Amino acid sequence: MYFIDVILPIPIKQAFTYSVNAHEAHFLKPGHRVAVPFGKSKIYTAIVYKVHQTPPQTYETKEIDQILDEYPLVTQTQLKHWQWIADYYLCSIGEVMRAALPGAFLLESETIIRLQTERPASEAALSEQEEMILEALENRQQLHLNDVRSILDRKQVLGVIQALLEKNRIALVETLYEQYIPKMVSYLQLAPQYKEESALTALLDEMQRAPKQREVLMQLFMLSARQSGAVKRPELLAEVAGAAAPLRSLIDKGIVLEEKRQTDRKAQWESDTADSKGLSEAQERAYKQIRQQFTEKSVCLLHGVTSSGKTEVYVKLIEEQLAHGKQVLYMLPEIALTTQLISRLQEYFGDRVGVYHSRYSVHERVEVWNQLLRQDQRAQLVVGARSTVFLPFQDLGLVIVDEEHEHSFKQYNPAPRYHGRDAAVVLASLCKAKVLLGSATPALETYQNAVSGKYGLVSLKERYGKVLLPDTQLVDLRDKNRKKRMQGHFSDSLLEAIRETLAEKKQVILFKNRRGFAPIMECMTCGSAPQCPNCDVSLTFHKAKGQLRCHYCGYASPLTKQCGACGSMTLDPKGFGTEQIQTELQELLLEARIARMDQDTTRGKHAHAKLIHGFEQGEIDILVGTQMLAKGLDFRAVGLVGVMQADSLLNFPDFRAHERSFQLLSQVAGRAGRTKDRGKVLIQAFNPEHLILQQVTTHDYDGMFKDEMEQRRQYGYPPFNRLIRFTFKHRNFETMQNGSRWFAKALEAQFNEGVLGPEIPPVGRIRNEYLSHVLLKVPVNAGIKAYKGKVGMLVRNFEAQKPFARIKLVVDVDPY
Ligand code: ADP
Ligand code: ZN
Ligand code: ZN
Repeated sequence: MYFIDVILPIPIKQAFTYSVNAHEAHFLKPGHRVAVPFGKSKIYTAIVYKVHQTPPQTYETKEIDQILDEYPLVTQTQLKHWQWIADYYLCSIGEVMRAALPGAFLLESETIIRLQTERPASEAALSEQEEMILEALENRQQLHLNDVRSILDRKQVLGVIQALLEKNRIALVETLYEQYIPKMVSYLQLAPQYKEESALTALLDEMQRAPKQREVLMQLFMLSARQSGAVKRPELLAEVAGAAAPLRSLIDKGIVLEEKRQTDRKAQWESDTADSKGLSEAQERAYKQIRQQFTEKSVCLLHGVTSSGKTEVYVKLIEEQLAHGKQVLYMLPEIALTTQLISRLQEYFGDRVGVYHSRYSVHERVEVWNQLLRQDQRAQLVVGARSTVFLPFQDLGLVIVDEEHEHSFKQYNPAPRYHGRDAAVVLASLCKAKVLLGSATPALETYQNAVSGKYGLVSLKERYGKVLLPDTQLVDLRDKNRKKRMQGHFSDSLLEAIRETLAEKKQVILFKNRRGFAPIMECMTCGSAPQCPNCDVSLTFHKAKGQLRCHYCGYASPLTKQCGACGSMTLDPKGFGTEQIQTELQELLLEARIARMDQDTTRGKHAHAKLIHGFEQGEIDILVGTQMLAKGLDFRAVGLVGVMQADSLLNFPDFRAHERSFQLLSQVAGRAGRTKDRGKVLIQAFNPEHLILQQVTTHDYDGMFKDEMEQRRQYGYPPFNRLIRFTFKHRNFETMQNGSRWFAKALEAQFNEGVLGPEIPPVGRIRNEYLSHVLLKVPVNAGIKAYKGKVGMLVRNFEAQKPFARIKLVVDVDPY
């Protein structure tokens, strides 16, 4: 008798065992994908974990449905990594599997398919069964897996669907995401047969009677000689008046070839890529030090101020790895924000860059996965956000985690609630690869690891081109208010600085924190504010839509003047957001071209990329925005950065509030003056004496680190302890409260100390569920395995309690 233990993509803790025949047992290896029946009628895709001969004690095994691939799709290293994530973040390995595999690998009974809208260029032959499914889809838009079963009159259908997916004839419905389609530009070149001079001369002779076409052809020839390659259509049209029609004829005759290319992609025709830039002296030194550190340590932090050119240093390190045939992972906080960086990397490394993004189509993601498995050149360098840590690297040499302090590396929901940076460090150690963490404002945890010698530490203190760090000043809002020097939310100093900057033909960035004061409505008579009916939070005011909206559940109601509490017609806006800043400023500066970058204006298809592009091209003078502005954007002409109100950041009730404020403000400030002239930063605050604000103005990371570490030590917060946060949710307040109290007591009984709560968070009810938190502080030197084992026991114990059966318990290790 042969058995396999498999991982199922569901939150159960145990491995599941199925029986296989001898033949299958010899074929199957850990990492193979199989389709298995589960429960009454479900089918899941499962990953083989172990092949063995021991029957399970407690249940009768079922047989597998079928084997889905010729070769294992998941490597041994990945399986180990999954196990680590499950153990460390206290979740099931099945949940890790679900996060790790692209949707197309996870066919299951809930899967719904539809026809692929775009026909593939070459159509692979189809089997009879595949034809039947396509035919059914012609008639019925979508098919559920069970429909497919009844159409084919058989149980085992995942294999057929898999084949159709691979032939690109069907798509999965759940993954109908928008894709980023970069702008297309027409490129022109002579057909190859005319590239020789003699052939071209003959052609020109023939064209004596079409002088206009001849002229266009001559120009194209000259331009392409000058640029040694294809010519952009608009460029050619600019050279020859009235060229459009003759050009059309030339294209129709096949003399000129036209190709549409993505502007942000390295062109197909030009095979060679740009050389990396020579490093500056300071960069060269940093580069050498990093290599030196890597001889002793597997992780190194590059602490480089904003605009020091960290990317160029990364590029040098990447080049070296690629030359040795190694794979490289380049992790970024949020891929949507990084078209700039990706095109920079594509310039250097051409089609060896694979971009991996959960919003890309199933196909693109599957492609990168397979390329890595095959060690294909085309994905030797993979760029993407945290989920790239799940890719099947075979020969990983280096991981770069750019902007490693960013909180979006942490997955918040659903499980696994992993931190991309930390998971990458573990992956690299499994692969014996090196890790370079890069940031101008490292996370305290990381910096601590660096100064303690666990990680290497290399600093890059000067900006590229020896540009000075921006001149940063604080503006005292209390004082300005008292002296009546405010116009709306703008102090006279800020307004003056904006006017000066615009007069110098430079650009301005204005930053308004997303958190804290959201624009809400308040009754001038009774002081109450309209509340969300589902959550304990005030509705925010959206002027453009004329709505009041809840940021937690999306509830929306039309704007009214009438107070729901006292009935007076005296509701008025209070607080302010980016929208109000834009409106106010436009009234003050009628001529200025002002745009806004926040969650509202970047929702649309390529809205984000468009805004960045517009700003880069100088079509926008002033960009008003939120947090999004802080993320590694490299704009050349920003002379001034203004922070509208820094206090709301600092007052956020979270032990990381100070660290975050420092990071955010320094990063935003870092957008100023990245070339030649020193930039200027003005920070408006009601409390400019605040230590953190002082440290931001003097670029004093070390001072901030020292002070914050002292605080953390005193209160036992990370990095001195690890935190585990337990969140309890239930529609009934009593039930929720009882459950969380029971759990806190149980924790105390187990660990004696380090238990905080239960505590109701600032927003105590979301989507009609009441919430509370319990925190557990885990000493860093505690045997983490034993600790987690005990916690896991308690969680299972809790879930087994009848009265708490409907309470949702979320466990978050290292919460952010
Ligand atoms: P950081 O990521 O450290 O903030 P970047 O890597 O974005 O800095 O570099 C800032 C700017 O300086 C970029 O526009 C980059 O092209 C330029 N730059 C950096 N290093 C060099 C170099 N060695 N040669 C030419 N330009 C450079
Ligand atoms: Zn009222
Ligand atoms: Zn709500």
